[in-house]
Amino acid sequence: MIQQRKDLSQTRRLVFKIGSSLLADPQYGINMTMIERIVRQVTALHQQNIEVCLVSSGSVALGRVALAKHDSTWLTRVLRVHEKQAAAAVGQPALMHAYHQVFSDCGFNVAQMLLTRDDLRHRRRYLNASNTAGTLFSAGVIPIVNENDTVVVEEIKFGDNDALAALVARVIEADLVVLATDVDGLYNGNPNNTPDALRISEVHTIDASIHNMATGAGSSFGTGGMKSKIHAADIATRAGIALAIVAGQSDHALLDLLKGNDLGTLFCCNDDRHTRRQHWIAELLQAKGGLYIDAGAATAIEKHGASLLPIGLHRVSGSFDKGECITVYNPENKPIAKGLSNYNSREMAMVCGLKSEHIESCLGYMDYTSVIHRDNLVLLRDMIAAV
Ligand code: GLU
Repeated sequence: MIQQRKDLSQTRRLVFKIGSSLLADPQYGINMTMIERIVRQVTALHQQNIEVCLVSSGSVALGRVALAKHDSTWLTRVLRVHEKQAAAAVGQPALMHAYHQVFSDCGFNVAQMLLTRDDLRHRRRYLNASNTAGTLFSAGVIPIVNENDTVVVEEIKFGDNDALAALVARVIEADLVVLATDVDGLYNGNPNNTPDALRISEVHTIDASIHNMATGAGSSFGTGGMKSKIHAADIATRAGIALAIVAGQSDHALLDLLKGNDLGTLFCCNDDRHTRRQHWIAELLQAKGGLYIDAGAATAIEKHGASLLPIGLHRVSGSFDKGECITVYNPENKPIAKGLSNYNSREMAMVCGLKSEHIESCLGYMDYTSVIHRDNLVLLRDMIAAV
């Protein structure tokens, strides 16, 4: 586990994510210099027995450029969801063609893996993706992942490839995620207009002060971008995987990073990790409803790792089945946990506020004394959206 920079030399497998802005130019289309830069670094790492999976954005941006050859408004207007999906369908083969061309000149095969959040939510499909990636690595192939944009709608998207990269790292059991972007790390101010803004070299805990660096007043610079990168860092480090943000324009940032050089920002792992099951509940499952609980129950689950009992409930929202994922809200209506429900929403409403020993007389059966068992309950940190 990478807990500090010098541990980076232990990296055996990593995810390298490249953003659209580095790969696609609205005028010229694909940036081949960037592709060559990536391929050179991946080749060098292969010689050191370090396996790399690429997560590459760029399909929508490249598709827009291609479609604009017939209708220039594809570049200028705000696209609707189905238009973005069409652009992705046009751009993805162009993107893969560029990678294929340059990697094959260096003797590598590439493989395209298009994933959706739904794929990772289902155990069997998750394992299939993981096994396929494992087989590709054994065959010396470079997997290139993107979101399967043509089949997902906005609400069920990963949203951005930063989060996808962090989740893929778990699927392929990587030690490290490297996000290549157009800035060389996280700064404590806007480096464009704050000359004394400092780059944060290492982050050991993702707390409010780190979040404020991406959202604080005056940081118009890369705001959205840094926010999603910090969220990705949270997902990755919670899974015991370190994450680095580096400048993608450099010819050797990835290589220098792995040597332990002080560049970019490294989010280190600590002992505060989610198990696989908790990771699945917190990051992949979508909540179908909510439970509003009282202060005593909130303290019991937050401070004492207890299961959630019906006596602590005062309201149920949404419609869900037994076994589905639900969000738990504290008395301030703040989401504090996600978990798998032991009862469906109708039964849950009936047992609200009851002592566990009264569940049976109320429902006519009692499978569990708790409404969410502690093993199926994950506490959310402030920044994890309770989706
Ligand atoms: N999947 C999108 C694409 O290839 C990119 C999403 C992102 O930029 O994070 O265009």
